[in-house]
Amino acid sequence: MSIQANLDAVRKLLPAGVSLVLVSKTRSNEEIMQAYDAGQRLFGESKAQEMLPKHESLPGDIQWHMVGHLQRNKVKYIAPFVSLIHSVDSLKLLKEINKQGKKHDRVIPCLLQMHIADESTKFGMDRGELTELLESEGYQQMQHVRIRGLMGMATFTDDQAKVRSEFGQLKDAFASIKKAYFPKDEHFTELSMGMSDDFRLGIEEGSTMVRIGSAIFGERS
Ligand SMILES: *Cc1c(COP(=O)(O)O)cnc(C)c1O
Repeated sequence: MSIQANLDAVRKLLPAGVSLVLVSKTRSNEEIMQAYDAGQRLFGESKAQEMLPKHESLPGDIQWHMVGHLQRNKVKYIAPFVSLIHSVDSLKLLKEINKQGKKHDRVIPCLLQMHIADESTKFGMDRGELTELLESEGYQQMQHVRIRGLMGMATFTDDQAKVRSEFGQLKDAFASIKKAYFPKDEHFTELSMGMSDDFRLGIEEGSTMVRIGSAIFGERS
């Protein structure tokens, strides 16, 4: 099937209010433009050094989301234009994003990544670390970042009940963090969960943003 046909098929499965971040890592500008021509404007990348040249060579109305692990020394490449960073996994990283936001006179939207999977290879903070970050003086003084919600990646497994329970954990964390730290903040709205293999479950568990690559572009080589 074509990229356009796959895109249409996925869009049909998304309820109103769930946005599609089309994950374009490793894909060529030609492939990205096929999705762009079908109306897609939200794209996700997992490496700053890949996002930057794509931003520079592709249409300016594309919104670029960073979905992969971000090293502090790479923040500067994407700070001038990135629309949302899904993968904030430490106070140190958030400090660097704030510093770069200040330099470019922007408030950079961010999600905090929570570790919900079994695999130790997946990044993210546990509940205690999330609380520590949100209560830190360092965070409370930042004026150039805006935390818009949480992101998480479930364990890579066929066990649907397990994936569902991990997404459930993330949703519960979102609700309690919202209540405790963002009760009146209309910007704290996003729950980024679900990829090609588990976005249906993510939506059932309350996702507002799915990050999908291979189900639309085909398998990555
Ligand atoms: C690559 C990636 C995705 C998309 O994965 P697919 O299985 O191709 O849908 C989503 N989220 C993150 C963080 C990724 O790195």
